[in-house]
Amino acid sequence: MLQNIRIVLVNTTHPGNIGAVARAMKNMGLGELCLVEPKIFPDEDAFARASGATDLLDKAQVVSSLDEALADCHLVVGTSARSRNIPWPLLNPRELAGVATGLGENQKMAIVFGREDRGLTNEELQRCHYHVHIPTDESFSSLNIGAAVQVICYELRMAVLQQDVADDKPQWGTEWDVDQADMQELERMFEHLEQTMIDIEFLDPENPRQLMPRLRRLFLRALPDKIEVNVLRGILTATQKRLKKSDTDV
Ligand code: SAH
Repeated sequence: MLQNIRIVLVNTTHPGNIGAVARAMKNMGLGELCLVEPKIFPDEDAFARASGATDLLDKAQVVSSLDEALADCHLVVGTSARSRNIPWPLLNPRELAGVATGLGENQKMAIVFGREDRGLTNEELQRCHYHVHIPTDESFSSLNIGAAVQVICYELRMAVLQQDVADDKPQWGTEWDVDQADMQELERMFEHLEQTMIDIEFLDPENPRQLMPRLRRLFLRALPDKIEVNVLRGILTATQKRLKKSDTDV
């Protein structure tokens, strides 16, 4: 299970923190680090703080967008030090580890960590199936990013070590007849849905309110498979076609 988990850091400011994250990951048996537009990387501070985990830095993927980091993932979890305006399915690190034990062999999970100064944006958090919050003292909730990665990776490792937790797998698409859609397929569906709703004048792009976040939350909760996504997109295409036809009929 630990091999199926990718740690994603978004816009990290301090290279030393990237090194601390690599070390925390390697201590717990995780190996895949992906950096979305790090401010400074590679850098000697990162390598110094990684201690013996420099191999993770050497093979870290550096990408220019969060979408790129998530494209081949099936489950995405965003970490946050505080609650945001629209509530989202929320787990603590132990519950997250329980979910992770249900990952199928070919399913990839990304855990996304935010900027040191302001965390993840709402838009980034809305790309996630779940949010994870480390239950801190409410008056002081923000951990250093390296410490946050450490806590989460520790719980993932404990879940692997505890066979009884692994035996009680949550239902998570492992025995489905059709493969689960990946994030790239879901993002394309969301774009198609948004465009169709604009076409039929259900969504006003000048005043979108929380329509897309609410629909994203709905579809992400459903964990749709590839056929389900194709069917939904087929309905959208038919809607757009019919609309064009009725426009030309008038
Ligand atoms: N001031 C920022 C905190 C950023 S801390 C904010 O209010 O969001 C940097 C990153 O560490 C966060 O984006 C998150 O990924 C992680 N982190 C820090 N504290 C956390 C907590 N209590 N639970 C989960 N993740 C946390």
